[in-house]
Amino acid sequence: METGHWGWGDGLTDALGGVRARAESFFGKLSEERPRSPRVPAPRVEIPRTLRAFSTAEAHDRAMHTWGKSYVDRVRGFRGDFSAAPDFVVRPRTEAELETVLEVCERNRLAAIPFGGGTSVVGGVEPRLGKNHQGSATVDLRAMCRVLEVDDISCAACIEAGAVGPVLERQLAPQGFTLRHFPQSFEFSTLGGWIATRAGGHFATLYTHIDEMVESIRMLTPRGVWQTKRFPSSGAGPNPDRLVCGSEGTLGVITQAWVRIHRAPVYRASASIHFRDFAAAAGASREISQSGLFPANCRLLDAQEALLNQVSTDGASVLLLAFESADHPLDAWLERGVAVAEAAGGRREAATTGKAEAAESWRSSFLKGPYLQDAMIVLGVLADSFETACTWAAFPGLYAEVMEATRAALDRVCGCGLVTCRFTHVYPDGPAPYFTFLGKAKRGGEVEQWAEVKQAASDALVRAGGTITHHHAVGRTHRPWFDQERPEPFARALRAMKRELDPAGILNPGVLFD
Ligand SMILES: Cc1cc2nc3c(=O)[nH]c(=O)nc-3n(C[C@H](O)[C@H](O)[C@H](O)COP(=O)(O)OP(=O)(O)OC[C@H]3O[C@@H](n4cnc5c(N)ncnc54)[C@H](O)[C@@H]3O)c2cc1C
Repeated sequence: METGHWGWGDGLTDALGGVRARAESFFGKLSEERPRSPRVPAPRVEIPRTLRAFSTAEAHDRAMHTWGKSYVDRVRGFRGDFSAAPDFVVRPRTEAELETVLEVCERNRLAAIPFGGGTSVVGGVEPRLGKNHQGSATVDLRAMCRVLEVDDISCAACIEAGAVGPVLERQLAPQGFTLRHFPQSFEFSTLGGWIATRAGGHFATLYTHIDEMVESIRMLTPRGVWQTKRFPSSGAGPNPDRLVCGSEGTLGVITQAWVRIHRAPVYRASASIHFRDFAAAAGASREISQSGLFPANCRLLDAQEALLNQVSTDGASVLLLAFESADHPLDAWLERGVAVAEAAGGRREAATTGKAEAAESWRSSFLKGPYLQDAMIVLGVLADSFETACTWAAFPGLYAEVMEATRAALDRVCGCGLVTCRFTHVYPDGPAPYFTFLGKAKRGGEVEQWAEVKQAASDALVRAGGTITHHHAVGRTHRPWFDQERPEPFARALRAMKRELDPAGILNPGVLFD
């Protein structure tokens, strides 16, 4: 079945085979639907002459730059809806070309949408027109994808913003380095996208947010180049890199960044620990996060999440604990982490499925996740996730409230449903819980069903003291809750910065700002 214009990639057939029986065990007999052919509206404007050498208005290219990769985006693509398609797509190869793009868009009153891998799950790359715009151009950065320099003394590299995960890792590997930033979307997302959205990687503690890895940034704005200096740290006023992290393509286009890199790890140690009681498991995670051990993985799966990922089938919550280092063996770290977990009531398990280590089952299921979501759409299952961070003190209340609100919403809109939770990251002062929800979709009504569940879950998150997002960014989807979260004087200061850097408002209208 064709997934090119709507899905994650070429893994649908395998995913369908793996997921059908499991989905049917929850939702009863499911039937497959086929995707519709893409309907792309005619462009409203022509490509300006000076951009023609590196632009396209082909319908397929425009379709591929219409939506991100959220559940709703994929459903719209599956149904052939590409109504928001940009009028054309530009692929600058150099900063000089990008500068021309920004000038031409401003002069011709075109919205310019920076686009990395297009894996946004919050409507971050969907072209929308501002008040005075005549059309839109999506600016795909992936032609700018080189590792320009490696400073092997300081362990840092200068990398162009359009490099997707595997492309930049392939260039660092021969020198023995890795950026070690592995979001689940690693295969298709870019360095520029990670910085623009403050992405979180796979590792549970220490260097895991891209913010921590950025040493300096170069960004083109419609009013000049924003180039910061390389420092390991600085106390000189507000940090200009931190203002770019999370700017989501609204203040400028990031073209390159110096990032901290690591020597590739050679030592690894891991274990999985089962708990009868989720609260005790959360307590163990807290103690480990406060112990100074800083595991690479400290991922707690509640019983439903462990079942869904086939990590445990006996109703246990599972804590996956792992350490890695380029420098030293880790047995002592692992033994201490396991001891803390056992003191909290956990039981160490080596192999849970009889076939593979739990940590391995989890990892392979994690990487297949995006393909499974395509399969769910084909089978008519509503399947999405949302995430947050809160203090340890707030967590028990937040968990109860969010689970309850999301389940109730699923019951209302789908008849029944399933909600699971895991910790993606743990900090000494709180976890980052990540929730997945599944329900039977009404064919053709998925977007409305999803919106009702999302609203109930997001309201509950914010009410219970969580942030609207720990690593999925704001985009358009999270705007109402982001607006509640940010202080009003800060919102005014951000708007002033937008007016200064992008006075014509060409960059990503509707994201972060009205
Ligand atoms: C299956 C799946 C799994 C995911 N897993 C994770 C995860 O583990 N961790 C995580 O943090 N996120 C995750 N995400 C969300 C998404 O992958 C991240 O937000 C990622 O950082 C987006 O990168 P991208 O290159 O695809 O950016 P895009 O989606 O292309 O763009 C995202 C935003 O950044 C802006 N932007 C992109 N490039 C630039 C640039 N060079 N300059 C200025 N602005 C730019 C865009 O305008 C847009 O607002 C996941 C998404 C999916 C679909």
